[in-house]
Amino acid sequence: MKWEEALGSEHILVTGGAGYIGSHTTQLLLDQGYQVTVVDNLSTGHAWSVGDAELIQCDLREPVVLAGALRKKSFTGIIHFAGLSQVGESIAQPLSYFDNNVTGSLNLIDYAAQAGIDQFVFSSSAAVYGNPRAAVIDETHVIAPINPYGMSKAMVETMLAESARANDLRAIALRYFNAAGAMPSCGLGEAHDPETHLIPNVLKSLLLAADASPGDAYLKVFGDDYETPDGTCIRDYVHVTDLAQAHVSALRYVKDTAGAQAVNLGTGRGHSVLEIIDTCQQVTGKDIAHIIEPRRAGDPAVLVADNKLAGELLDWRPQRTLTDIVSDAWQWHQMSS
Ligand code: UDP
Repeated sequence: MKWEEALGSEHILVTGGAGYIGSHTTQLLLDQGYQVTVVDNLSTGHAWSVGDAELIQCDLREPVVLAGALRKKSFTGIIHFAGLSQVGESIAQPLSYFDNNVTGSLNLIDYAAQAGIDQFVFSSSAAVYGNPRAAVIDETHVIAPINPYGMSKAMVETMLAESARANDLRAIALRYFNAAGAMPSCGLGEAHDPETHLIPNVLKSLLLAADASPGDAYLKVFGDDYETPDGTCIRDYVHVTDLAQAHVSALRYVKDTAGAQAVNLGTGRGHSVLEIIDTCQQVTGKDIAHIIEPRRAGDPAVLVADNKLAGELLDWRPQRTLTDIVSDAWQWHQMSS
């Protein structure tokens, strides 16, 4: 359904809807009959990835321009993805992260208040927990981010909680663990530049192997001396389509529920880096050459979600397996290479 034709349906403002998780969520919203307007500055997102949604190129750090661009529009809710999302980059350029992620969010929350939009879904991260103090983390874990990216997410969660207390904002922060996978049937996948994430790097190393110099083609494994069964880091990989579904459920939740809430989105199952490589080998049928590098700064050994609260509040349970994640990502990388 095109956005112009979706009259009468709920109209959702999706910031950062041209990015990885944002574009998948936009597609799902459109499929479910929502009218969607994407606001994205296209600094890292892609115009091609918003499909039939309306796209307004605008930076949240320009509140006057934003309010002008959205004048006369009437939104029922906001899903806020826009922001920078690389941990390493945030350590090198902290002010850029506070500017984009905190100032941008502040302006958006203020816009919501001015425009009378009281339903707000925020794209947060497990990075708010910092170094995990338990193998499996629930939402009561202390908020102690260890890098500016995680700090910026925690600050926005605080702004939303205080705005919910002071005004009538209904907000939910979704704390993602490791988003992965793709929606190849819609031409959507993970297209970061540079790519820092494990699964796309494993798959890209296969595609590069044919025409790159051997050193470039090798996948780097950051550390094999962690206190885990095989020495490599364990993460909770969750399919981006399952994440997108959680946002739609979260929209329904904030419609009915006052206050502010934070919810983990993960599968509750961890996989090591070597297990990921093994699954990629099984799915692609190819050997994956890798070299062991020193640990990457800021990587905890194990990060796995307790996802019970998402089940209780959002009726959300991830449906897709690690094999689904890798199969969909592999299909998309082959299509887009
Ligand atoms: N990793 C790796 N090689 C890569 C990219 C990532 O060994 O090319 C490791 C990384 O050190 C971490 C895990 O894979 O232990 C997941 O990293 P990713 O960047 O995908 O997600 P993060 O958990 O950092 O958000």
